[in-house]
Amino acid sequence: MSGAFDNSIVNQVQQANDIVDVITEHVSLKKKGREMVGLCPFHDDHRPSMYVNGAKQIFKCFACGAGGDVFKFLQMRENLTFPQAIERLADRAGIKIKPTKAAKDKGRQLPDVDPNQLAKVNAWAADHFQKNLADEQKGRSTRNYIDERQITPESTKKWRLGLAVDSQDDLVRAAKTRGIPPKLLTHAGLVVNQGGDGLADKFVNRLMFPITDVTGRVIGFGGRTLGEAGAKYINSPTTPLFDKSNSLYGLEHARHSIVSSATAVVVEGYTDCIMAHQFGCSNVVAALGTSFTTGQGRILKRYAKKVVLIFDSDAAGIEAANRALEVCLSQRIDIKLASVPQAKDPCDFLLTAGRERFEQLADEAVDVFQFKWNRLMESFGSDDTLAGKKQAIEEFLQTIAASLWAGNLPAIDRGLIVNRLAKIIGAEPKEINAELSRRISRAAKTASYPDTISAENQKVQSIDFGQGLFAVAQREVLEVLLNEPKLFETVKQRITAEEFDVPILRQIADILFQTLSADINASLAEILTRAESVEAGSVIVQLAQGGEEKGNFESRLDGALNVMQQINRRRKKGEVKAIEDQSRFLRRFSENAVKENPHNVGMV
Ligand SMILES: [Zn+2]
Repeated sequence: MSGAFDNSIVNQVQQANDIVDVITEHVSLKKKGREMVGLCPFHDDHRPSMYVNGAKQIFKCFACGAGGDVFKFLQMRENLTFPQAIERLADRAGIKIKPTKAAKDKGRQLPDVDPNQLAKVNAWAADHFQKNLADEQKGRSTRNYIDERQITPESTKKWRLGLAVDSQDDLVRAAKTRGIPPKLLTHAGLVVNQGGDGLADKFVNRLMFPITDVTGRVIGFGGRTLGEAGAKYINSPTTPLFDKSNSLYGLEHARHSIVSSATAVVVEGYTDCIMAHQFGCSNVVAALGTSFTTGQGRILKRYAKKVVLIFDSDAAGIEAANRALEVCLSQRIDIKLASVPQAKDPCDFLLTAGRERFEQLADEAVDVFQFKWNRLMESFGSDDTLAGKKQAIEEFLQTIAASLWAGNLPAIDRGLIVNRLAKIIGAEPKEINAELSRRISRAAKTASYPDTISAENQKVQSIDFGQGLFAVAQREVLEVLLNEPKLFETVKQRITAEEFDVPILRQIADILFQTLSADINASLAEILTRAESVEAGSVIVQLAQGGEEKGNFESRLDGALNVMQQINRRRKKGEVKAIEDQSRFLRRFSENAVKENPHNVGMV
């Protein structure tokens, strides 16, 4: 059933990748009873709704319905196919696997962008750039430059700095020697098409910064020019693996420290970030040359309570403040702003002023609301005239109203913000609230509603479980089997998987009947690996948990099997219609089901 790989390999890979460890690489989890909870990455989660059960090796979000095993998590998180997720986790655990021939053929038909392949070609390119830098001849002047910037050899190694030499086709030629398909290089954004068959390196004469994801995979590159030509910094283009507004430089190295300090410090440049770590400030990441985005805020929110944005200069900070306000309100994350004195970049500041001053800068950062207000007051007349102040208030509330609308804030959070604004401006909360409401409704007329739920979740939430008693009975049977697999002995004597007529339930019945026929002791995790689609995985977890809460397995199973058998028998005789209206037996069953189990009321 796992198609590309045989089941023993799938099980081996699953056992080598504890779901708690894997999910922790993406989301910060806290212990709660026997389970772990964290913010769900599959919807815009504001209080932890995702539960991870280490004993059962499953996860489940109670808000959006996402759920499954470790493969499902990765499939959804990184948009992978099932075989790709297996490959990724095998890689993670250092297990060598070979897909079956069928999978290889299937792979050939897939569109040519496989994120795993891109990560591999990126890792190869990072190696190549590192070798260039280490080369006695080719790398000498760049190594000198790195020395001048006071980046130590240890940092150079840790951050895998490299060199794209001053040649249009250095990487292209190296790839050819290695037999790497040009298409892969193009998709990874490492080369550019020059028309015809001509390929040229994208990064030429640049100091290379590999950008990794939280698990250490190279997802893209930043390159700083070593000559006069072109932009000072360029990044990899957007690929299926890399999107700079949803990535942060250094998260791999900063993650633990961000969790333990509950604070993430965000700087602008690669070297700022490297230097901060070199000085022992290890909760620092860099924003990849964009102003801090909602996507980046969403990522950091999984690890940090507070985000401090540090800017090279006050001017840059003013520009970024509006964006930061929006992220702060939409992601409900505490954002503070600071700028480096004397328009230095954080890297130089660290080198001249040292770690303590840098940490002090972060400690004394100003709340984003206050920051915005202070700057507005300055721009509208520092003499504090009434007219100036009025104008400042107008613009202040306008900015916040726009952000509030974009973030769709719940009432309780809004109350807190209104109080905060009232204190800053020195006005009554009631007035502020009324003023904001007026502006928000104006913003609502011109703005479109933000898209907060991903297509994947909508898919999960809109699954059709069928209608009527027959559908309920099918669910019940599956709920029981997922909790008490031993009862399969009873089930298989009375019904077959073919009798399930709700498509998603039939799919799961097929999996369960096959798995349990082979091994009556199969665990939930094993069953989940056989459900290749994300949708089926989510439904299995939902049924397993729903069933567990209801308990009462044997009698529920018996009732449900009776219903299924009765209806099927009558269906065969063409009496389907009549049975739904008349059968006294059915009515009795549904009354009992409701009595024993109020959950069923809505479904019957
Ligand atoms: Zn969720």
